[in-house]
Amino acid sequence: MKVKISPIALIKIIDAASRRLDREVGGFLIGRVDNDCLNIVDIEVPRSKGSKTHVEIDPLAMAAVAEKLEKRGMKESIVGWWHSHPGFGANFMSNTDISTQKVYQSLFNKAVALVIDPTSYVNKKDPRKIDLKIYRVIEDRYEETDWDVAVEDTWKIVEDGVKLISEIREEQVGVKDFLEKMSSAMKLKEEISQLRKAVENLSLIKVDFMQLQANVELFMMYSTLIFLLLFVFSILIFLRFI
Ligand SMILES: [Zn+2]
Repeated sequence: MKVKISPIALIKIIDAASRRLDREVGGFLIGRVDNDCLNIVDIEVPRSKGSKTHVEIDPLAMAAVAEKLEKRGMKESIVGWWHSHPGFGANFMSNTDISTQKVYQSLFNKAVALVIDPTSYVNKKDPRKIDLKIYRVIEDRYEETDWDVAVEDTWKIVEDGVKLISEIREEQVGVKDFLEKMSSAMKLKEEISQLRKAVENLSLIKVDFMQLQANVELFMMYSTLIFLLLFVFSILIFLRFI
């Protein structure tokens, strides 16, 4: 079985894994099987507990992700899991990894385990040399499976991209919708720069929020001050009357 990872899924995995070098992180792989090829089209990064050598994904998250995919009416489902080995290399599966993978394979017999060590990427910033391996378990042993980056139907990408850009222009989609659409529709470099713009917009909103927070704090300070003055004033008046 061949495995193809969509550019957007790959970007998300590299990004999520690179953000934590102090502990393992992980999540689910979303995809579908087309003609004996497993296409990984997206990933999920649910809450997880992790140490330097271990990661535990919130068990409730799987049901939540499955439900979300079903609600969206997507053809895709959870087709495996991914996790990082920060600093240890991606070329092995621990005994815990093997047991976890067995569970995934029992739920979906073509499920795969993706292991990534983000340290070389963090140091060299070259995603082409990313230390990333895909495994399947066969009779208690793990076996590596070849993978490649999927280059999907270019016209479909153009079609989705043009539609999305016009929707953004007409403000039919908010930033959140936009990001969601990005992950399912966007595959090209140009569109990644759109993602960056959206993230920049998000940070602008954050700045606004901080401004708002500062204003609220100022307001609270003034109102406390006025309240105190009124209080002192009323005590003074009260004292004059007795
Ligand atoms: Zn592991």
